[in-house]
Amino acid sequence: MDAPESRVPRDWLSEYLADHDTPCPQCGYNLRGLRSSACPECNERLVLAVRPAEPRLAWFVFGLVGLAGGAGFNVIVLGWALWVISFQRYGPSLGEFWPVVIGAPMLAALSGLWVWQRRRIARWSASSRWWMAWGGWGLTILWAMLFFARVR
Ligand SMILES: [Zn+2]
Repeated sequence: MDAPESRVPRDWLSEYLADHDTPCPQCGYNLRGLRSSACPECNERLVLAVRPAEPRLAWFVFGLVGLAGGAGFNVIVLGWALWVISFQRYGPSLGEFWPVVIGAPMLAALSGLWVWQRRRIARWSASSRWWMAWGGWGLTILWAMLFFARVR
């Protein structure tokens, strides 16, 4: 049988602030002894939260820059290729631009996957995350080389 008080959620915020000098993250007012869940000075709602000591996101940003940069390059070149094909009477065919025809949707999808699966990838080992981030850069560089080999 549960004791009745165990069904009442503990007020961790008030318990913490009862004996800690803590500035309001919004206005800096000292919240020590606060009994409500909002700052009395600026009315900002407050929660007690657990955060990483250091948010290690370098691998994520690095991988995203590689993939999204590649996606952006391929989308721009694909747009330019479509413009050339549409308005130049004796222009090249779309097949001659196959690296960007494949690269634009592929790198855009991988960028989305990188963002969508960030929390899952964050559970991998540091070396696995960095290998994957470098892999994104490798794919982008490989696709740029394929493109420039075609247009040379
Ligand atoms: Zn405040």
